[in-house]
Amino acid sequence: MNDPKRKTYWLETYGCQMNKAESGYLEYELQSHGWTPVQKPEEAETVILNTCSVRKTAEDRIWGRLGFFKAQKKNHSFRLVLMGCMSERLKEEILNEAPHVDLLVGNFQKHRLVDVLDQGDAFLEAATQEDREAAPQRAPQQPPQRASDRAHQEAHLVDPGEYRFAERHSLSGFQAFLPVMHGCNNFCTYCIVPYVRGAEVSRSPRSILAEIRRLQEPEDSSGQAIREITLLGQNVNSYSYREQDGTILTFPALLRRIVPVLRDRTWLRFLTSHPKDMSDELIELIASEPALCRHIHLPVQHGSNRILQAMGRKYTRQHYLDLVARIRKTIPEVSLTTDILIGFPGEGEEDYRLTLELMRQVGFEDAFTYRYNPREGTRAFELGDDVPESLKQERLSGVIDLQRRITREAKKHKLGRTVEVLVEGVSKKNSGELLARTEGDEMVVFPGSPRLIGTFARVRLQSLRGSTFRAETIEADGA
Ligand code: SAM
Ligand code: SF4
Repeated sequence: MNDPKRKTYWLETYGCQMNKAESGYLEYELQSHGWTPVQKPEEAETVILNTCSVRKTAEDRIWGRLGFFKAQKKNHSFRLVLMGCMSERLKEEILNEAPHVDLLVGNFQKHRLVDVLDQGDAFLEAATQEDREAAPQRAPQQPPQRASDRAHQEAHLVDPGEYRFAERHSLSGFQAFLPVMHGCNNFCTYCIVPYVRGAEVSRSPRSILAEIRRLQEPEDSSGQAIREITLLGQNVNSYSYREQDGTILTFPALLRRIVPVLRDRTWLRFLTSHPKDMSDELIELIASEPALCRHIHLPVQHGSNRILQAMGRKYTRQHYLDLVARIRKTIPEVSLTTDILIGFPGEGEEDYRLTLELMRQVGFEDAFTYRYNPREGTRAFELGDDVPESLKQERLSGVIDLQRRITREAKKHKLGRTVEVLVEGVSKKNSGELLARTEGDEMVVFPGSPRLIGTFARVRLQSLRGSTFRAETIEADGA
């Protein structure tokens, strides 16, 4: 019988850009193997959650979704797949507490997922048959569910091997995220990433360049030219690839190989830079190479030396300030953004004050701000969690307020300028306006036709709405 749900999927992605890129790869693979996405989870034969473990809040949301899908399984028959960092970190807990998860896929097994799903058509049927036999008391009108079966969930796991980079990470569109590295060797004491993603591995330049060339082939981007490529890694500055002749390709050298391959006008960005590894060579390259966006995301995390040391960040406040001074001198129009982590164990009022002071000194264009969450397995977990949640929240609000003021001040100085923007979509607040971004990653809205989406435009910054620029068009590519 023809099952309308056969080979249909629903994919939810949580967390960082790396997860989004890896989900892009998965979707490409699924669709190449005849799978179709659906509009609602209940229409899918297979539901996949690509998970995040960096903060407890992300994991809590995913546990909530697992509860939702458990209830859904009472009414629909579908396969539930949990992949990514949470599958690595909480494998035992999920096997014990979420037996309705049919398949757990760790970070080193993702490349096998589509094969397993394809072969696994039989696995759901076999499992439901087992269930019918095992659960005769279930009302006949209810679709059968697979019983708790660890062996079944685990049977499809393979031994973690080396991380394998996928050869492509997007289906189509004008913006692409390309992993160039995986894992992290830094072991900042608060961070779970090195435990769930493993040691740093650099992707080969051959594979990176091949993906970029493919992105630029018109048939690959459904008629839309690629306009922006973001290279991803937990610490791109430590990219290091040993070539066949034994020489080491560094990150600036990789960028120099990528730039000549870019066709037409394309913005090249990268995330994330670690302050201990950002070299003068890279700063000078950003200054001299027009394809490289004048935007550096340079997470400082904290402004107090005592806390930076306890975090294992391996730089001091002064090192960071000196680095910023060199960057601003070499690239005067640069936009600097950061991550700030508040409430680390032992953080006192003076440490907090130093953080606010550093923020003022640097004048970040923007900041992502986080409240510390102890993560079991990390070194900081052993230190306890002695800053009360209410105080963490109070300090975090102080950081957010200050950054809002700094951001607005910096933006006010830019009013009247004409800048280039990449049009990303229609504004959610006003369908007559377009939402675009500057190379410094600042949001701009301006009146225009949706035909301009995926093109560059020149606009004049006229006013501010919150921290978003309002602008008028000077010149548009697709007009
Ligand atoms: N590799 C990047 C770096 O070194 O800056 C950051 C990657 S991390 C996934 C993104 C951000 O999450 C970090 O910059 C940090 O501020 C935040 N983060 C990491 N662990 C955290 C924790 N235990 N609690 C709260 N925020 C955390
Ligand atoms: Fe986590 Fe530090 Fe590695 Fe960033 S550099 S991923 S914060 S361990």
